[in-house]
Amino acid sequence: MLGVLRRPSQPMHEVEPKPPFWQTKPLSAMTDEEWESLCDGCARCCLHKLEDEDTGEVHYTDVACRLLDLARCRCRAYAERTRLVPDCVSLRDAAPDAFRWLPATCAYRLLAEGRPLEWWHPLVSGDPRTVHEAGISIRGRVVSERDVDPDGAEERIVEWPKTGGAAPARKKGA
Ligand code: SF4
Ligand code: SF4
Repeated sequence: MLGVLRRPSQPMHEVEPKPPFWQTKPLSAMTDEEWESLCDGCARCCLHKLEDEDTGEVHYTDVACRLLDLARCRCRAYAERTRLVPDCVSLRDAAPDAFRWLPATCAYRLLAEGRPLEWWHPLVSGDPRTVHEAGISIRGRVVSERDVDPDGAEERIVEWPKTGGAAPARKKGA
């Protein structure tokens, strides 16, 4: 009687997934596309800030730049931003000292300080909505500079832009 000769099963060699670019490349080596994709769309950096002259501490206000689309949390003139708003800093060209003006949740600051991206970052979650769901974005919490008294900045100082987000509602990936 003839049987069927079966080969012993081959050991399975699991292929390690390639780590994502933000875990392997320094900021300075990233392509323009990689660099831009790091922005989580929170728009916290588009809030007006005040610096304490004595301590150097940076205070955030809940007043947003006039070019910010408050609903989309996006700049209305991104390509021309530094020409239209002289205070707007192009991070890619900025000195490392400029990062201290960024919120602690900002992807550029996190990576520059050797820290990982959070679960709600769109590159990690795969969903641009998580930055809003986690309470990181400015959506629903700020006013435009066009609608407030320019001399009342100190009364508009808020602490939440310095904090992290809420607990993950639907954590994805890692
Ligand atoms: S704070 Fe950082 S991550 Fe958030 S919008 Fe600004 S540059 Fe992008
Ligand atoms: S010009 Fe655009 S990117 Fe710059 S602070 Fe204003 S809204 Fe933000």
